Amino acid sequence: MDPGRAAFESGHRRPAEGLDLAGGRPTDQPGAGRGNRGPGADEWCQRGQAGRRPLLFVGYGVSAPERGWDDFKGVDVKGKILVVLVNDPDFEGTLPDGAGGDFGGKAMTYYGRWTYKYEEAARRGAAGVMVVHETGPASYGWATVKNSNTNTMFDIVRAEPAKSHVPFESWIQLGLAEHLFRDSGLNFAEAKAAARRKDFKPIALKSSLSASLTAKSEQIRTYNIAARVRGRTHPDENIVYSAHYDHLGIGEPDANGDRIFNGAVDNSTGVSLMIEMARAFAKGPKPQRSVLFLAVGAEEKGLLGSEYYASNPLYPLSKTVAVLNTDSMGIAGAARDFSMAGLTKLELVDLLVAEGAGQGRTFTPDAYPQSGGFYRSDHFSFAKRGVPAISFKSGRNLLEGGIAAGEKWGAEYQANRYHQPDDEWNPDWRYDGMIADGTLLYRVGSTLANSRQWPNWSADAEFRAARDATASERR
Ligand SMILES: [Zn+2]
Repeated sequence: MDPGRAAFESGHRRPAEGLDLAGGRPTDQPGAGRGNRGPGADEWCQRGQAGRRPLLFVGYGVSAPERGWDDFKGVDVKGKILVVLVNDPDFEGTLPDGAGGDFGGKAMTYYGRWTYKYEEAARRGAAGVMVVHETGPASYGWATVKNSNTNTMFDIVRAEPAKSHVPFESWIQLGLAEHLFRDSGLNFAEAKAAARRKDFKPIALKSSLSASLTAKSEQIRTYNIAARVRGRTHPDENIVYSAHYDHLGIGEPDANGDRIFNGAVDNSTGVSLMIEMARAFAKGPKPQRSVLFLAVGAEEKGLLGSEYYASNPLYPLSKTVAVLNTDSMGIAGAARDFSMAGLTKLELVDLLVAEGAGQGRTFTPDAYPQSGGFYRSDHFSFAKRGVPAISFKSGRNLLEGGIAAGEKWGAEYQANRYHQPDDEWNPDWRYDGMIADGTLLYRVGSTLANSRQWPNWSADAEFRAARDATASERR
């Protein structure tokens, strides 16, 4: 194996005064005389700052050429703060006249994620973004927004930060959005209905905003660890097995006084499976293509290790054939089925399903695709750059006890162990499920590593264009 190590750095941002991001004060809403708001995160959470800037409502803030959809309609957004809706334009179904349905229904496309809204605004040179929070389309309440935006925030150190982040990123509560629209003589619900149509055009609001923030920032360092089995005939083409090795560290004591977040299921199971893959490929016949094993850090802080690797890849992403990520494997026994995080249309999934069928196992799609599970695991740092990538999930239909037993285990894990000190090894763990899952993942990787296949996204997938942009590098 070629040993290798990728340095990984993380930016670190902490408000100077207490936990609240104090200092965010949207001001100057003419006609309303509302003056300063905040501090506090009751209707407002921000990162970064902005001088006085005009507000522009851009609907869902989506530019999706493969769906013939563009919310910007050529309007220059440079220097403006964009007010955007969360989720994608057909989350709330079709309109009375039948319009809508361009984004595949309730399952969330990447255009629905808040990260996409920030990235698209940065690509267009906007001064800032205000995401309007609504519990239904966000799939979580304001408390989640508040908790994840008023704590220490992390990012990787980027060569060109302005390409990934607008200077000012924020969320606002629905009530504040309604107020802003009223101040401009507009109605939020009507503007939102207009945004569900293809012919929507950006709407300038009469309000402007300036926001400041005091934050302390520092750099800390952690590592990604990489190792590779070099391919015999096409060493520059890589199949990637990845798993995150970080967890939550040491925190507040639980009821038993335990402060150590062991992360035994999440994610020593995924890491140990990846190490077994490495052992198998290193011992077995040398594959034609290379196989890269990647243990990434800082997943729990926002997929940062994988984001760092994908921003600074050791081997070109254009010739990265596929990524098979494992995060929290099943230890409740072998299952008749298997799954993956979220839904997507990708030939890599077809290959997984076919190999699974060869083992007599069936594929069960994610039951809650509207919560955007496809965008919340390390494979996604690759997928959004066009690389075919999935996070494998163990099945719930157990050979012993069926779906009832699998669901019971899942509910117990979610309630008592997930992201808690009790995510610990115990002698009841069973490995027959992981052995079957590992065999399946080995076969998928081995098939790809010994073929000329380049699995791709379906024509209407949001990542197809990014992949096709480098098609000439693959033959
Ligand atoms: Zn995890």
